[in-house]
Amino acid sequence: ELDTKPRPAGNCGPFLFNHLIQNIKMKILKFGGTSVGSAERIRSIAKLLPTNEPCVVVLSAMAGTTNALIEITKDAMSGKMLNAIEKTKNLEDKYISTIEKLYISKTYRNRGEEFITDAFQQIIRKLIDGFSDKDSREIVAFGEILSTGLFHMHLTEQGKKSAYISALRFMRTDKDKEPDYYYIEESIERTISSNPFAQVYITEGFICRNSIGEIDNLGRGGSDYTAAIIGNALNATEVQIWTDIDGLHNNDPRFVENTSPLRSLSYDEAAELAYFGAKILHPATIQPCRVKGIPVLLKNTLQPEDEGTLITAFHNPQGVKAIAAKDGITAINIRSSRMLLAYGFLNKVFEVFNQHRTAVDMITTSEVSISLTIDNTENLNAITKQLSAFSSIDVEQNQTIICIVGDFVANRNGYAALVFGALKEIPIRMISYGGSNNNISVLIDSENKVKALQALQGIVDNSTEINSELVTQTIN
Ligand code: ADP
Ligand code: ASP
Ligand code: MG
Repeated sequence: ELDTKPRPAGNCGPFLFNHLIQNIKMKILKFGGTSVGSAERIRSIAKLLPTNEPCVVVLSAMAGTTNALIEITKDAMSGKMLNAIEKTKNLEDKYISTIEKLYISKTYRNRGEEFITDAFQQIIRKLIDGFSDKDSREIVAFGEILSTGLFHMHLTEQGKKSAYISALRFMRTDKDKEPDYYYIEESIERTISSNPFAQVYITEGFICRNSIGEIDNLGRGGSDYTAAIIGNALNATEVQIWTDIDGLHNNDPRFVENTSPLRSLSYDEAAELAYFGAKILHPATIQPCRVKGIPVLLKNTLQPEDEGTLITAFHNPQGVKAIAAKDGITAINIRSSRMLLAYGFLNKVFEVFNQHRTAVDMITTSEVSISLTIDNTENLNAITKQLSAFSSIDVEQNQTIICIVGDFVANRNGYAALVFGALKEIPIRMISYGGSNNNISVLIDSENKVKALQALQGIVDNSTEINSELVTQTIN
């Protein structure tokens, strides 16, 4: 059992406006890996918290920690125990040196050290006492537990009324791996009510318990999703995602130069871009906020004065807005073995994907065949075997979906020509157009991804003007 007891309780004196009695709604602020990546960064984000209202703070693990912990568990799984232990010790050293820089007083340095040593002893014990998938999930969970404990102690040392609320006490998924909202809402409200005077409620992103009560997580990059789920459960006034860039850019800044941040996006556009590869947001982040109409604000911790990207229900019509790319796609071509595409064929095909709980992203059809794409290949063998009973199958891996988001019916024609003109040098495997007015997707070989993203930057409409009056109206 992980030790999740709250760390040194904040000095929570009476707070002037008890938000629970007054029913004041809160903001949720999530800080990502780089934002908590060093003692200096941790100190600087403490200064970004609201001073006039209570808030919930959700933290990721310090940059590099989750990767390191995953490597450690992989080493342990494959019997490389000495490697695993050495890497664990190196990681512990990094944390010990962070503590020395983070805390001012000896008392807090000692407390911090005790906290770190205790956590790493637990990790080592888990590594040594036999090893299962459950142990590895528990070890990976320490990333967020560590950063959250350190930040909570920092706030407390600064005299802030901080209350640590363990995500493992309220964040739970059901048997379909979906958030168990009923449980989450009830548990987080109860947890907050038992600390009614805090100004900052601080908790771990990413980690949760699953339907059988084991420690689990929401998938890589899942801290954004945690913030959105908490926002939904508490009917937050805003969910802020603080990261290392000034908002959602109109193309992937890792591969394309001169991209620029979008100032406003609709929920649909943001969800589409996140789903199709804009790493700044976990793909599931938008949904819990959209259903409650909660604005999502993306902000840069390195430049907090920058306005960032505001995501609401407001849709600002504007040509080609942004491009994203999703790798690791598998295309499956399915040809009916009866020569005619008899009615019922599509139904039979989708029934197979349904049975294997595998989502289909893109589809194109011709008279006797269907091409579709999946990104979860866990059940690919079983799927192709079943499909082969009534069709012939080709599978192509290492594909990339390029997603072009914009407003493709507004006033002007010719967007399709613009997109395909830009991509004229690149072989296209599939095209999806018309499913929504806001999206054109193409499937290409992954080796052409960077070239495609760069070529498409030329057609992005760079007018960043937005109708702020309309945005305000939509939010209110
Ligand atoms: P955090 O650790 O704060 O969650 P992430 O690394 O998950 O941060 O997300 C931020 C990174 O996402 C940026 O540094 C950037 O490289 C990458 N990124 C990819 N596509 C986009 C995009 N369209 N707009 C902004 N950032 C993007
Ligand atoms: N620390 C987790 C990860 O690296 C979750 C997150 O950063 O959002 O995937
Ligand atoms: Mg992230």
